[in-house]
Amino acid sequence: MFLTDYHIHTRLSPDGEDSMRDMIRASAKKGIKQICFTDHCDIIKWGTEELSRDAPYILPKTLEERSKIPPDDLRDIEVRVGVELGEAHFSLETAKEIAANPEADFILGSLHVLKGYGDFFLIKYESMEHCRMLLDAYLDTLLEIAALDFFDVMAHIGYPTRYMTRAGFPLSPELGHNGDKLEALLKLLIHNGRGIEINCSGIRDGYGPFPTMEILRFYRELGGEIITVGSDAHKIRDAGVYIAEGYEILRRTGFKYITTYKKRKAEFIKI
Ligand SMILES: [Zn+2]
Ligand SMILES: [Zn+2]
Repeated sequence: MFLTDYHIHTRLSPDGEDSMRDMIRASAKKGIKQICFTDHCDIIKWGTEELSRDAPYILPKTLEERSKIPPDDLRDIEVRVGVELGEAHFSLETAKEIAANPEADFILGSLHVLKGYGDFFLIKYESMEHCRMLLDAYLDTLLEIAALDFFDVMAHIGYPTRYMTRAGFPLSPELGHNGDKLEALLKLLIHNGRGIEINCSGIRDGYGPFPTMEILRFYRELGGEIITVGSDAHKIRDAGVYIAEGYEILRRTGFKYITTYKKRKAEFIKI
């Protein structure tokens, strides 16, 4: 099986711990054949709604790191370069400019911060009703991002589940409560030629994949084909972890191919 990891961080991310070279070696050891680095490139400064001055430098720095990897480390694994472009809805021009870098292989469109509420990591969750309201606002913002044309794949749909569950409110977006918004979101992504990812960090941490199997199956039923697989590893211990399980979940939810990207062009690999 040709295992790929299209969501992985290095210490260029504020919450990443290890070098690109170490992440490559750890992934190759786990049998990953192709990875694409997606360090955090957040449009706003963490914990604020102010624009970040660092964002435009992340992708060039990742490309520079990639150019320094000795060929010996690339014998068993192919390395591509992208970014996890977060919070594009705070400045569309900045997001567009960053994504226009012709050297980028892949842009992951990502949402961690809701305007007016802050980062899901920092929100104080009060009740199930409060969480439902936040999930609603989350899906509205995803819909806003889905309409933009700067990214290839929408990252970790269902991301707030991790933080809501930790606070004692185990909620995920689901067809029963959020069916209309999920349908509008997935249809828009499909219509615009963009994809989603299965983010395996949720499997690792006991929350299940992001998005859930129900949403993965629904995306397939709506005609969704573009899907990448990502560990979202931030340290060598997590590199390549649960990627094979992610492939298995995709097979069980009706996928026949996974997607990779080279210079922003989708390629499909049979699973
Ligand atoms: Zn993320
Ligand atoms: Zn990430």
